Amino acid sequence: MKLDLHRSRSCPATAPPVNVPLETRRTTPYAPLDRGDFQEGSYSPFEERAGGCPRRTAQRHPQQPKGCWPPRGGIFRITAFIVLLLSLSWGPAVHQASTAASDKTLDIYFIDVEGGAATLIVTPQKESLLMDCGWKRDDRRDASRINHVARDLAGLSQIDYFVVSHFHTDHFGSITQLSQMIPIKRFYDHAVMKESQDYDKELYPGYQKASAGKRRTLRPGDVIPLRRGNIPLKLTCVVADGKVTSKAVAAGAKLNALCKEGKLQEDDPSDNAKSIGLLLSFGKFEFLDCGDLTWNIEHKLVCPKNRIGRVDLYMVTHHGMNISNNPALVRAIQPIVTVMCNGPRKGGHPDTVALLKSIPSIQANYQLHRNVETSEAENTDRAHIANWDENCQGEFIKASVAPDGESYTVTIGASGTPQKFQAQ
Ligand SMILES: [Zn+2]
Repeated sequence: MKLDLHRSRSCPATAPPVNVPLETRRTTPYAPLDRGDFQEGSYSPFEERAGGCPRRTAQRHPQQPKGCWPPRGGIFRITAFIVLLLSLSWGPAVHQASTAASDKTLDIYFIDVEGGAATLIVTPQKESLLMDCGWKRDDRRDASRINHVARDLAGLSQIDYFVVSHFHTDHFGSITQLSQMIPIKRFYDHAVMKESQDYDKELYPGYQKASAGKRRTLRPGDVIPLRRGNIPLKLTCVVADGKVTSKAVAAGAKLNALCKEGKLQEDDPSDNAKSIGLLLSFGKFEFLDCGDLTWNIEHKLVCPKNRIGRVDLYMVTHHGMNISNNPALVRAIQPIVTVMCNGPRKGGHPDTVALLKSIPSIQANYQLHRNVETSEAENTDRAHIANWDENCQGEFIKASVAPDGESYTVTIGASGTPQKFQAQ
C-alpha cells in the first residue's frame, strides 16, 4: 500500500555509515540487456565501458582517461607491459582468482527498513544488486542501514544495480540519501511515470537526478546481465508494469490447478500492481521477489500456467498484506523458506501468516518483525522473528547459498545461528 505510515515508536538507527577504502574498480564491462529501450538519458561510451574507457580502437581516443587501451606511450610501453606480466606468472594468478570466486557463497540480505523493503543480493563474483531502498527519513536510518550492510558486512564499495520495484515511498524513499553514501552504477525500473499515474511525486525528482544517464526500463523476460562462474546464475524479470513474462522461465512450469479455486479481487490501480518481480536462480537454488505486486497480477503470473515453477526462497510479497500473496501463486511455487519484510505495525496480516503456515512445502517462515498488533499465534515462530520488540535494533535476515547452489542457510543478524536447507 502506498500509505505506509511510519510510527514514531520505531527502531533506532543501527550503525552509522562507515567509510572503507574503495576496492579496485571492476575490469569486466557490463553486458547489455537483450533489448534496449533507454529512458530518460542513455549511457555515454565512457560509462558503458569499464573504467570509463571508450570502445577499443587502433588509436587512442583524444579524451581517453588513464588506464584505457591502448595506453599512452605507444608500442614501447605495451611491450614492457607484456614482459612485466610474464614475469609475474600471470597464468597461476588467473587460476587462483577463479578458484577463489568458485568458493564464495551467493548472499541475500533482507535489510530491516521497518515496513518497507531493501533486499541486497551479492553474487560469488562480488556483483551486487539492491532491490528497493526503504524510506526517506531525516535521520537517514534506512540509507545508513543499507550502507552499513553493503560496506561493512558484504564488503562492497558500490552498488552495481539498483532495481526499484515500484515508485512508493517505502521502496525508493531513501534513494537520494543512499546515492550520497555509496555509488550506484545502474538503475532499473518499470516505467517513466506519467502525471496521471500513482507514484510518489515528491521523491521522484530525486530518483531522476540520482539515476540520470544510468537508467533503463525492465520488461518481463529481460535478464539482468550478472557475471557467472562455473555454476549457472541468472536473474530474470518475470513481471513488470502489470505485464507478465510470456514464456516459462523455470523448470517445472505447467498448468496450475489452483487457478480454478481462487477469486479475483477488484483491480488495483496503484503502482503496487506495476511492481517488478525478479526470479534469481543459482544452481538448483531459486529466489522470488515480487515487491508489492497485488492479487490479480499475481494470478496472471501463475494462471493458467505457472511460469515460475517451484522456488526455494520466497520473499513474502507486499510486507505480508492480504491484498497480495494470492494462494494460487504462493501454493503453486511451493517455497521451502519464506522471508516477510514487514514492520511492527505494517503487514504481517493474519490471513497471510495462516496461509504460509498451511503450505506443506514450507519448512521455515521468517519475519523481520513481530506484528505487535496481533497475537503471538498469528505470527510465525518466535525463533524466526528478527526483531521481537518494537523498539529494536533493526536486525536483518541473511540467506547464504552454498558455492555449488545445492543448499543454503538462513541466519538472523550477524551473530544468529544459521539454519540449513537443501535446494529443491
Ligand atoms: Zn511497500
